[in-house]
Amino acid sequence: MKVIGLLGGMSWESSIEYYRYVNERVRDRLGGLHSAHCVMYSVDFAEIERMQSAGEWDEAGDRLAEAAAGLALAGADFVVLCTNTMHKVADRITVLPLLHLGDATAAAVTRTGVRRIALLGTAFTMEEDFYRDRLATHGLDVLVPDEDDRAEVHRVIYEELVVGVVREESRQAYRDVIERLVDRGAEGVILGCTEIELLVGQADSPVPVFPTTRLHAELAADYAMGLSVIPGISQG
Ligand code: GLU
Repeated sequence: MKVIGLLGGMSWESSIEYYRYVNERVRDRLGGLHSAHCVMYSVDFAEIERMQSAGEWDEAGDRLAEAAAGLALAGADFVVLCTNTMHKVADRITVLPLLHLGDATAAAVTRTGVRRIALLGTAFTMEEDFYRDRLATHGLDVLVPDEDDRAEVHRVIYEELVVGVVREESRQAYRDVIERLVDRGAEGVILGCTEIELLVGQADSPVPVFPTTRLHAELAADYAMGLSVIPGISQG
């Protein structure tokens, strides 16, 4: 089995889920006492968030490159960057192959035949090109919420979900945002921030949802077990 290198802490609320999902997947596939062979490097999210708000993406990229080097030293065979947003600097991780979250998600979406896909995530993920373009290379037509809805989706992530707060009012707000995206033609919704699936799931959407933490972690486990060949596994 390959050793999975989880680069987490962004936030640790979702890194726990990654750890659980990779282990559950290996248990379900291999049975018995099998569990995932993995290492995790978990950063201090306050440090990363400060760089995000200051626009210091090069510094943030350096920090993640340093963490990836730590994973390599610890024996990881490949990197799973446990955040959608920080894929903005994924190309800074060159020490090991990177299993790109956008590719893992797009593969799951295209398998279902969905083309017109809504994207929920941080403002960086929804508004900048790095993630939407990655999805578009897989033939997906990406739809994002309008400005007010984007602001609310972003606020809930940074003020609530990354600190473990799950509020019913926020769940309803997300349901309403999804409803409006479906009215605009969305055939599915990417939960494109690794904490969003702590708040909403399939029961909150009339169209299929694609939870990025689960999809990324399960693909990583399959790849580690040699059950999935990933032609796209790349350096960013
Ligand atoms: N976990 C989040 C994501 O998937 C947001 C936290 C971050 O900015 O890394 O985008």
